[in-house]
Amino acid sequence: MKRQNNEKIFFERLEKIDPAIISALKLPKKRFSFRINRLKTTNDEVLDKLEKVSIVPKRVEWFEDAYVLPLEERQNLIKTDLYTDGKIYIQNLSSMVAALELSLKEDEWLLDLASAPGGKALLWSSLLENRGKISAVEPDRNRFFMLKRNFKISGAKNIRAYQKDGRTIGKRCPEYFDKVLLDAPCSSESKFDLSIENPVKYWSIRRVYRNSRLQKELILSAWESLKPGGVLVYATCTFSPEENEEVVNFLLEKRADAFLTEPDIILENFKSGLTFWEGRAFDESLKKAVRIVPDGLFDGFFLAKIKKVR
Ligand code: SAM
Repeated sequence: MKRQNNEKIFFERLEKIDPAIISALKLPKKRFSFRINRLKTTNDEVLDKLEKVSIVPKRVEWFEDAYVLPLEERQNLIKTDLYTDGKIYIQNLSSMVAALELSLKEDEWLLDLASAPGGKALLWSSLLENRGKISAVEPDRNRFFMLKRNFKISGAKNIRAYQKDGRTIGKRCPEYFDKVLLDAPCSSESKFDLSIENPVKYWSIRRVYRNSRLQKELILSAWESLKPGGVLVYATCTFSPEENEEVVNFLLEKRADAFLTEPDIILENFKSGLTFWEGRAFDESLKKAVRIVPDGLFDGFFLAKIKKVR
């Protein structure tokens, strides 16, 4: 009974957030994406080796290191040395967009405040070829070791990992970082597979509220650790406005030096952030946040780019 009620609430909310999401989540996943790891290989080497096993990926227009393949090729790709040697990294395109929005430069220091398994930090190690400095924070012991293992396999030498609670970093490291990524722990609604029975088994509105409270603490910590003039990217893989626009709106209300800026990458399936939810208005600038509508290739995602004025 309780489960049925949860499911009803879940779908009613999605319908209100954006009816396009429900039909999109029902689309079968037909493709997946990966990117090359410049620390270990080149585009040419990857394409040559894949061609030898009859795998021909399609390059993504907006990111030269990213490729797309039909889902049936996933197992074949995982079996190649390219994958086991860490020369390629399977990563959803939405995650790549969120990471790219950081535009990290080689003389900058990035804090990845909720880091495991480390895919977004690794994108920058690869792009900057181990230049630039990255601190990666993850409190969960198992996930922390997975993170360190991924950094090692990928050959990343510019990342230091810390097993800490992200909420403590702002106080420990005030105004240390040029860029901060908060890819927040969330209710992961975009990962629900609506083609299976009982897809929202682990979802409840209470969990959404609990996540929202944690995310608000984390975003304040992220903000405190950011240098004036720096940029924070806040991201989640969930649709609930309480975990997205409401968290960013909370920061805007609390910190007068926080301003949303337009993202660099805008694609067809991107929509603006909400400025109104359940009788509550958010700051108009939340239109600059992005909601990525899932489409069978891109996962559903929310991201906001926030500048700290000097
Ligand atoms: N950025 C990662 C990537 O691209 O591979 C994915 C991060 S995942 C969405 C969120 C992570 O936040 C999880 O690994 C979770 O264990 C971690 N987390 C949970 N509570 C946290 C906290 N209080 N401080 C920092 N991280 C936390």
